[in-house]
Amino acid sequence: MDISVVVPLYNEAESLPELQAWISRVMAENGFSYEVIYVNDGSTDESWAVIEGLARENDAVKGICFRRNYGKSPALNTGFARAQGDVVITMDADLQDSPDEIPELYRMIVEDGYDLVSGWKQKRYDPLSKTLPTKLFNATARRVSGIHNLHDFNCGLKAYRRKVVKHIEVYGDMHRYIPYLAKNAGFNKIGEKVVKHQARKYGKTKFGLDRFVNGYLDLATLWFTNKFGIKPMHFFGLLGSLMFMLGFVAVVIVGVAKLYAMHSGGHYTLVTNSPYFYIALTMMILGTQLFLTGFIGELVVRNSLRRNDYEIEEEVGDMPKQ
Ligand code: UDP
Ligand code: MG
Repeated sequence: MDISVVVPLYNEAESLPELQAWISRVMAENGFSYEVIYVNDGSTDESWAVIEGLARENDAVKGICFRRNYGKSPALNTGFARAQGDVVITMDADLQDSPDEIPELYRMIVEDGYDLVSGWKQKRYDPLSKTLPTKLFNATARRVSGIHNLHDFNCGLKAYRRKVVKHIEVYGDMHRYIPYLAKNAGFNKIGEKVVKHQARKYGKTKFGLDRFVNGYLDLATLWFTNKFGIKPMHFFGLLGSLMFMLGFVAVVIVGVAKLYAMHSGGHYTLVTNSPYFYIALTMMILGTQLFLTGFIGELVVRNSLRRNDYEIEEEVGDMPKQ
């Protein structure tokens, strides 16, 4: 099978027939063998009935129905697990992404050898309250992830080599950072294609402004887990040591200053009168706590089943399976 289209959706009943007709037309025109996997993320409207209807008319239409609303990432992850096509394409259900982009995305994966191609809604039809924060968000994501050639991390329209979707895990709200997840899994050929974008035709957006706060927190999490996920002590140990040393220096200053004052017969007061005393105290406590956090982190990692979970690309020669 050439292509799997994975469509996560939550209350998009009005858009679905139009979307399916459009996808079918593009696939037929280009002679692709394909499947469309609709993942109904606990919709409360008639979306599921519509999908069942579409599946009756067309064998290529498949559907998965969650009992409740989990979010876009869980929907994508579930669709990815079931996808069989050589190239997997994700697309929002709200008709903002155009199926006309599919042939070129497919070509970029198969011929140009990209692992992942992300859409770039260069000209967007969304309110300014969304496009402006998105610019900031993407600039940060580029810096943190080191993927400098992407303008639009969170574009719903993306294409993947099948291997990629089988080796990344999209959970929580991490769909915003799939290119970063892919890069962390060792898939480096990440490209971009300018795609057409349309204003939402039916229904309304499912994400509020909290997306930006959560987006930044998730980025921090990804950065941390990628860098220190299996060696937390390298993070907490360093910070803890620095703090402790600052505290120690402050203690020495306080102590020596008092001893000197006593010795030289000058005026001296209680050490608790010095601000350095409090700095020393706080720093040493914080330092110790950070260090202990590092140890606890290491204990957690030690028990993790994934601590030695590596992706082996190829092997040569005869070796026993471990
Ligand atoms: N979506 C989903 N589960 C959710 C929220 C959204 O499957 O909990 C789907 C939604 O139906 C749409 C896609 O994710 O197909 C993108 O959502 P939306 O268009 O609301 O996002 P926006 O375009 O505003 O970024
Ligand atoms: Mg949308």
